[in-house]
Amino acid sequence: MEPPARFEARTPPRSRDLSGLLDAIRACHACAAHLPLGPRPVVQAGADARLLIVGQAPGAKVHASGVPWDDASGARLREWLGLGAATFYDPSQVAIVPMGFCYPGRGGGGDLPPRPECAPLWFDALLAHLPRIELTLLVGQYAQRHFLGAARKARLADTVAAHAEYAPRFFPLPHPSPRNTAWRQRHPWFERDVLPLLRERVQAVLGPPGGGRT
Ligand code: SF4
Repeated sequence: MEPPARFEARTPPRSRDLSGLLDAIRACHACAAHLPLGPRPVVQAGADARLLIVGQAPGAKVHASGVPWDDASGARLREWLGLGAATFYDPSQVAIVPMGFCYPGRGGGGDLPPRPECAPLWFDALLAHLPRIELTLLVGQYAQRHFLGAARKARLADTVAAHAEYAPRFFPLPHPSPRNTAWRQRHPWFERDVLPLLRERVQAVLGPPGGGRT
């Protein structure tokens, strides 16, 4: 399948270097009025990164630490990927860019969606500084909607099951939150059939555990 045209069309020209862009993101207050704990953008990016992880938005624990995926969801995600913390948190290998950079607060059904102001302001500008990305993990519905557009299936489970359609650039995943345990139990094929393929892809991009490609 052809890569979704939307991804190609949305990449803008670089307007400043990566370091300057990250400084600007960290100083952002664009939607501060809507953030219950205030702005604290949590993002990891290095120009040489080959694996990109696109999640939803930081939770309260990640907001407190400022470290991406520093929670139970992150522990499970690292287990799914077969990655230790040293590689996962190495920005020269792995970029971690959520659809919303700051904790959006909680609603009735859990954390609120990523703030809609964030991606148009920053997301594509940041991706333009990551030219070596070979594989993008789309963790959850917001990332899948952004990158896959109309190529996304009606249900998240169907999008994940159709992962081969989005290869080699994208790999859609469910969110690894403990709140999604019931989803994983309803879809045993995910851990049995999909995770081994995911680890293979990650290893092909980053090199074997403890090794690492240059
Ligand atoms: S969520 Fe995004 S747009 Fe809003 S303050 Fe944080 S970095 Fe800025």
